[in-house]
Amino acid sequence: MTELTLRHTPADRLPEAEREAILADPGFGKRFTDHMVSIVWTHDRGWHDAELVPYGPIPIDPASSVLHYGQEIFEGLKAYRHPNGEVVTFRPEENARRLNASARRLALPELPEELFVRAIDELVRLDAAWVPGGAEQSLYLRPFMIADESFLGVRAAERARFLVIASPAGPYFTGGVKPVSIWLSQELARAGHGGTGAAKCGGNYAASLLPTRVAQEHGCAQVLFTDSNTADTIDELGGMNLFLVRSDGTLITPELNGNILAGITRDSLIRLAADRGLATEERAVTVTEWREGAADGTITEAFACGTAAVITPISRLLGEDGTLVDFGDRAPGALTVSLRDELTGIQFGTVPDRHGWVHRVSDAA
Ligand SMILES: *Cc1c(COP(=O)(O)O)cnc(C)c1O
Repeated sequence: MTELTLRHTPADRLPEAEREAILADPGFGKRFTDHMVSIVWTHDRGWHDAELVPYGPIPIDPASSVLHYGQEIFEGLKAYRHPNGEVVTFRPEENARRLNASARRLALPELPEELFVRAIDELVRLDAAWVPGGAEQSLYLRPFMIADESFLGVRAAERARFLVIASPAGPYFTGGVKPVSIWLSQELARAGHGGTGAAKCGGNYAASLLPTRVAQEHGCAQVLFTDSNTADTIDELGGMNLFLVRSDGTLITPELNGNILAGITRDSLIRLAADRGLATEERAVTVTEWREGAADGTITEAFACGTAAVITPISRLLGEDGTLVDFGDRAPGALTVSLRDELTGIQFGTVPDRHGWVHRVSDAA
């Protein structure tokens, strides 16, 4: 078993008063905790030099392969403080499995799932003072892996590094959950058949930035991508999966077609809906179906989901042809809101964890 060595001193910690000032209003992804995880992999030795080290810049050779060919993958999950002070994460073993699925696609080494979970546990325990306790506040964890062999030849790198950094996060929606308008991108795609759409890799995000800028120019918060062949079959948003809700309470979501990311929030919501006796149709979904269903009243709600915002209600879909869907003041819909309340309740420890999703990191205070 790879041992995780601690290489830190108390002097590496930010003074308590400064930390508390950050935690009072953390925003998202701006400030980082005192430590990080670093584990090195080489083709010859496998995973080694697993360390918890002070947070800070990492040395990187200008010829490092990640800088040239984008061989990089990442994950995103959160640590939550429960009312009794205990700190937990949510389904971290799913993130471990998905990291390895991404690793296979990007020709990076797989990391033992047990080591992934333990690395996160130890970082969160060490920096537990950084897990905020305010409403909908959490510690966002960003595990990632980069190829860092210094070599310009084009092949899978023989040296990689896995890191975990952590950043306190405030509520995604300040002042209550607000529905957003989203932009339908039919020209620009994030992924295509046989590409890396199902992997959580930086390259997919790079491809989504220009369409996101276009979306913002049209007053939209997010982009909805369609299948690059049909420009009608819905894939997902830049970093969130999409659900539609039918008037009979059935959920509809694009099937995992190889182009979209298998969201853990998506999976959790399908199970919570099933607990309520609500079916989810996982199949091809088109913009046309959404548009016609919203117009004739058979599709009543739409939302996007992912770890960062959990559920984001969607009020409008806009595209080059103008407004395609407008739920008006019917958004956010009732099911959208109650599923969000239930899932966040499980994560924050105010709703019973029937599925054993909560992973205990540290004991009650
Ligand atoms: C991370 C991600 C999601 C959401 O996944 P969760 O596990 O629910 O956070 C959805 N789509 C893309 C493209 C993603 O990168």
